[in-house]
Amino acid sequence: MNIVLSRQIIHDPFVSKVEELSGQNLLACYQCGKCSAGCPSISQMDILPNQVIRYAQIGLKDELLASRSIWICASCMTCDVRCPKGINVAEVLEAIRLILLRQRKDHVEVEELSDAEKSDVPPIALISSMRKFTS
Ligand code: SF4
Ligand code: SF4
Repeated sequence: MNIVLSRQIIHDPFVSKVEELSGQNLLACYQCGKCSAGCPSISQMDILPNQVIRYAQIGLKDELLASRSIWICASCMTCDVRCPKGINVAEVLEAIRLILLRQRKDHVEVEELSDAEKSDVPPIALISSMRKFTS
């Protein structure tokens, strides 16, 4: 992935929003990698948990919001207990998910689905759709 850093993205409000929603100090991370080493889901991730923290530190918003990893994370919190700096990595991933959900992109209007479509939709998809209203 080619990434061009600039003062603009490093100072993007996205960084402070992730810190506010997660309650974590992103700059406390020193990239030891223990969070990723213990994560049971990294084989499916495109950005590893320690990389998520690094990307968030420097404001790589577009990369994080497009990442598969934020949806692959199972919120098992193994990363949280392994972090020597006490950073709750799972909460950072959750904060990024919330930022995306609050944009309400790709929102499904449940009432506009036909009965046949509703019967095909997995229950978790409907729950996720409702979650966009409550997050
Ligand atoms: S375990 Fe903690 S300090 Fe180490 S890379 Fe992960 S978040 Fe950063
Ligand atoms: S909470 Fe998510 S990122 Fe952390 S170890 Fe579990 S699956 Fe991996």
